[in-house]
Amino acid sequence: MHVLVTGGGGFLGSHLCDALLARGDRVLCVDDFSTGEPENTEHLRGHPGFTLLRADVCAAFDVPGPVDAVAHLASPASPPDYHRRPLETLAVGSRGTENALGLAVSHRARFVLASTSEVYGDPVVHPQREDYWGNVNPVGPRSVYDEAKRFAEALSTAYRRSMGANVGILRIFNTYGPRMRPHDGRVVSTFIRQALSGEPLTIYGDGSQTRSFCYVDDLVRGIVTMIDSDLPGPVNLGNPSERTVRELAELVRETTRSTSGVEFLPLPVDDPARRCPVITRAQHELGWFPQVSIEEGLRQTVGWFMSRRSPSSAGRIAQEPVRI
Ligand code: NAD
Ligand code: UDP
Repeated sequence: MHVLVTGGGGFLGSHLCDALLARGDRVLCVDDFSTGEPENTEHLRGHPGFTLLRADVCAAFDVPGPVDAVAHLASPASPPDYHRRPLETLAVGSRGTENALGLAVSHRARFVLASTSEVYGDPVVHPQREDYWGNVNPVGPRSVYDEAKRFAEALSTAYRRSMGANVGILRIFNTYGPRMRPHDGRVVSTFIRQALSGEPLTIYGDGSQTRSFCYVDDLVRGIVTMIDSDLPGPVNLGNPSERTVRELAELVRETTRSTSGVEFLPLPVDDPARRCPVITRAQHELGWFPQVSIEEGLRQTVGWFMSRRSPSSAGRIAQEPVRI
């Protein structure tokens, strides 16, 4: 297959490019590197099946050659990233999604949208099934991301209903693994960076809020399966093993054998209290379920963070932290 991956220079997108190339697909990665890193796909430079196009998907763009599938991942994803880029986040969810959908339709290609568990907002139904409509504050600080993704889901659905586009929606829950930026502000990358450098782990609120963390290899396997299917979705993809943020801090301290303490900081506005996917749809309709435990996933991720702390990469790790 010829697969176009928007956001292919990011954390998830670069792993998706790897997985598609590994099975023999040809991959065109489109990324403006606004939150991604060129080094995520550096190892693919010169690969005969891989092409990288530096472009903003909010501007009309076309691609050379055939396209059988479009995986639309381009979007800021971590809270500090979308707080810093509010208008760009809304633009890529709306104009960027429309451009990617238009391209898929013109090539009669399968289109897979990387939506998010954030469409459930601060959920009052727990755990979250796909038929839950969510609890989103449309003018809160997270709305630029949540509403952009909700609009992207509505737009994708309208393309399917009005034009018969082969659209599939994935709702991705918190995912972690190698290639997360140490200063992206997400909880796993932040805790690992802090634990490895002996700084206190910053727990927001009292740490009783929960998330369900999925290892990147599991998640990417699910995206590939969705690309290969004709399912419209939405389909939740995530690991239903739910942890409090406090438990996660403890797990990271154990995995890194860190002596770091913890520091309690104010809980951000509208921070969801609980989040856990029901994945029966993914299990029954895609035959997908996560296989990597959080202990194993954290070991892999910590190993990767440690490998980047070699003297040659120390400068890259010491980026400016971003606070919200
Ligand atoms: P990321 O920031 O690492 O990757 C996003 C990529 O999109 C980056 O490489 C960025 O440069 C690129 N991008 C952003 N705006 C663009 C634009 N206008 N044109 C071209 N490229 C653009 O984030 P990620 O964690 O890899 O997330 C990838 C996708 O998965 C996002 O759509 C995100 O909303 C979704 N998602 C991720 C998670 C998660 O836990 N990682 C959870 C739910 C949903
Ligand atoms: N969090 C935290 N300390 C940090 C970063 C995040 O306690 O240094 C919390 C955050 O408030 C949220 C959870 O960890 O409750 C997950 O945050 P993340 O930004 O990774 O994902 P999201 O909130 O988008 O699910």
